[in-house]
Amino acid sequence: MKYVSTRGYKYASLEDVILNGFAPDGGLYVPERIPVVAPDTLISWSGLTFPRLAFEVLSLFIEPSDVHPSDLRRLLDESFAAFDHPDVAPLAKTPDALVLELFHGPTMSFKDVAMGFLVSLTDHFLRRRNERRNVLVATTGDTGPAAAHAAIGRDRVHAWVLYPTGGFISDTQERQMTTIDEPNVHAVGVHGCADGGDDLDAVVAKLFADESLREQCGLGSVNSVNWGRVLCQTVHYFWAYLHAVGPEGVAAGERVAFAVPCGAFGNLFAGFVAKRVGLPVARLVAASNSNGAVHDALAAGVWRRRPLINTVSSAIDIVVPYNFWRMTYYALGEDAAALSAMQDEYVARGEARIPKAALDFLREIFLSDSVDDDATLATIGTFYGSNAGRYLMCPHTSVAVVAAARARARDPEVGGGKIIVLSTAAPCKFPETIARALAGLSLDDVPELRHPRVAAQRTLAQKGTKCTLEGLENHMREALRLYPRTS
Ligand SMILES: *Cc1c(COP(=O)(O)O)cnc(C)c1O
Repeated sequence: MKYVSTRGYKYASLEDVILNGFAPDGGLYVPERIPVVAPDTLISWSGLTFPRLAFEVLSLFIEPSDVHPSDLRRLLDESFAAFDHPDVAPLAKTPDALVLELFHGPTMSFKDVAMGFLVSLTDHFLRRRNERRNVLVATTGDTGPAAAHAAIGRDRVHAWVLYPTGGFISDTQERQMTTIDEPNVHAVGVHGCADGGDDLDAVVAKLFADESLREQCGLGSVNSVNWGRVLCQTVHYFWAYLHAVGPEGVAAGERVAFAVPCGAFGNLFAGFVAKRVGLPVARLVAASNSNGAVHDALAAGVWRRRPLINTVSSAIDIVVPYNFWRMTYYALGEDAAALSAMQDEYVARGEARIPKAALDFLREIFLSDSVDDDATLATIGTFYGSNAGRYLMCPHTSVAVVAAARARARDPEVGGGKIIVLSTAAPCKFPETIARALAGLSLDDVPELRHPRVAAQRTLAQKGTKCTLEGLENHMREALRLYPRTS
C-alpha cells in the first residue's frame, strides 16, 4: 500500500509515513485507497483478543513487505500488554449508554491506545535502518505522558516532552512524565509561557524548520498528524462494535452510532476510516466543547479560526482540529488541488468556505454538537449521583454523553438504534473538575478517584530539566546534539 499527501505529493512508503509524520509538501498522509472487508469477514473477527483484532485490521493496510506479520503481531502484543484491563478497552454498560473505556493504558487516557504501537513501530523501522529519532512533543495534556511512557524500552526513540509550568498542566500529568527514569525520556518544564502550549509549539516549529538540525538529529513527531496514530485508532471502533453485537442487542450487520469527544479530530477521522473499511456505522457524533470549530464548520459550512476558550474538558480545547483537513480531503472527492486552495484561503483569511457537495457529504456522516461547561459538569453529577449505576466519567466523556443524548433526540436512526460513547480518560486524572461536578459529596467517598499508580507517582523523585521560554531553543539545540540520527 502506497501513501499520498492531501496536498498532492505521491508516493511514500509506510516507513516514510511513520518516520516523517508530515509529507514533504506539508500535507497530511493518507493511503492511496482504503481497503474494504466483507461483512462475513468482519463478523468472523468477533472472538479475537484486542491485539489479534488489531492485527487483522492493521493487516488490511500494512503489507508483509512493510512489516513482517510475525513482527507486527509481536509489536501489537507488546504495546497492549502495558494495559491494566484484560480486554484492553472494556465496553461498560451504564444505565444511559454503552461506554467504551479507552483509558486503561499506562497514563490513563485514550492517547495510550495508539501511542504505544506508533512508538514501537517507529523503533522497529529505526532498528532496520540503524538510526535514531528525536521525537519532540509540546504538550498541555495527555500526549506528552503517553509519548514518554511509550518510549520506555524503545531506545532508538528519544522522547522530548516539553510542557509549560504554572498551572497549564495538572500535577498528575506532570508526574507521569517527570517520574520516568529512562535515558531516552526527557521531560522539559518551561517557565514563562504566557500563551501556554502555543508558545512551545512556536519553538518546536522553529526547530523543525532548521533543515540541518532536522537531518542531523532525525527530528520526528508522534502527534495525530502521524497516520500511525489514526490507523491504530480505527481498531477500537471494530472492537466496540463486535462486543455490542449479541450481548447488547445489536444484530450482526445492524448500524451503530458512535459519540466521540472531538479535539484534533484524530479519533473521529479514525471512525470515518473504519466506516469506509466496512464497519456498519450509523452516524459519528462529533462532540466538541465550547471550542466548536467542527460544529461551526458543519452548521455554517465555513471553517473558521476563533480564539481559544479554556474549558473543564481541557484535552479538547483545540482551535484548529487539523485532522478535519484529512476529512475534508475525502469530502472533496480526494481532490488535492481543491483542498490546497481551501487551506491557502484559511491561512490567508482565517476562514474558508466548504463547497456544497463536500458539506452534504460531511453532514451525511457526522452529527456535530458543542457542549458547554455547565452541561458537562451537570451530566457528570447526574451519572454519578442519581443513577443506580453510579458511573463516574471524565469531563471529555461527559461532553460526548451530552452530545449523544441530543443526537438521539435529533436523528431518528440514532434515536432508534444503539449508540456507543467513547470514553477518553479516567476520571481520576481530573479531581478538581470532579469535585466541582459532585459538589456536596466528599471526594474521600469517591473510590473511583483513587488510583494506585497515581498514588505511587506522588512518592517518586521527579527528574527532568527546567528552563525559561527564552532559553528553550538553545537548550534544545545543545541537548539534541548529543543524540545524532546516525552514530
Ligand atoms: C486527545 C484527547 C481527546 C481528543 O482526541 P482527538 O483525536 O484529538 O480528537 C479527547 N479526550 C481526551 C481525554 C484526550 O486526551
